[in-house]
Amino acid sequence: MSCDDKKPLVHALADGELDVVHAREIEAHIASCTDCAGSFARIMTLKQKLSAPGLRLRAPTGLAERIMAGLPAPVADEMGFEAPRKARLGSWGRSANAWRLRAQGAFAGGLGAFALAACLAFFVMRADTGNEIARSLVDGHLRSLAGEHLFDVQSTDRHTVKPWFAGKLDITPPVPDLALKGFTLVGGRIDYVDGRAAAVVVYGRRTHVINLFVWPGTDPAPPTMELSGYLLRHWTKDGLTFWAVTDLASSELDEFEAAYQAAT
Ligand SMILES: [Zn+2]
Repeated sequence: MSCDDKKPLVHALADGELDVVHAREIEAHIASCTDCAGSFARIMTLKQKLSAPGLRLRAPTGLAERIMAGLPAPVADEMGFEAPRKARLGSWGRSANAWRLRAQGAFAGGLGAFALAACLAFFVMRADTGNEIARSLVDGHLRSLAGEHLFDVQSTDRHTVKPWFAGKLDITPPVPDLALKGFTLVGGRIDYVDGRAAAVVVYGRRTHVINLFVWPGTDPAPPTMELSGYLLRHWTKDGLTFWAVTDLASSELDEFEAAYQAAT
């Protein structure tokens, strides 16, 4: 990435909109680029000035109540459906009957369009959700590698790690001993992924770490993802969702998944 490519991200960094991976990248760039460091300092100064309490206009107390009180009462048709408030505002002065006739006409066509829109929204949300989870997982993986929070319990003994989870979450993740397969159990922790608590079982191979995130539910997601140079592997089993995150090679992650699945 050239300096020009980084400039828009300097704004995003100032607004706290970057994930850990990009935030680090841009912070490192700012440390070595006086131009971008200057932009960042100017943005922060401006943000500070704009957040001064005197600049914020507050609506007078009771304004919202007065507006609501001035609106016409909800009109229900014989089916018991209430015209949405937006429609009432838009058709102010028209009779409820006219609204109902238009609504009935639009209903048949609207239903098809609604179903299509709902399907599209579902797929877009699904893709978005996958990406957000991947980002959140890689963030968690990086936080753990940065020494911020790799273990709550550190032990190579599954009889220490597994019971530690009991009572802390709704689920207790399987903690098989995979030493003979070349994966050393190193510990466990509780982490937060995309707003939900997850059990994390941590395994090591040579100097590499595999964070295995586990939470209840079996939402579909792609089996394999790659983000910022990290591999993510997803599977579900016995009502649990598993995500392994690592910088190991894909073939070694295959080995890990196979060994873990075979042992559980
Ligand atoms: Zn720069």
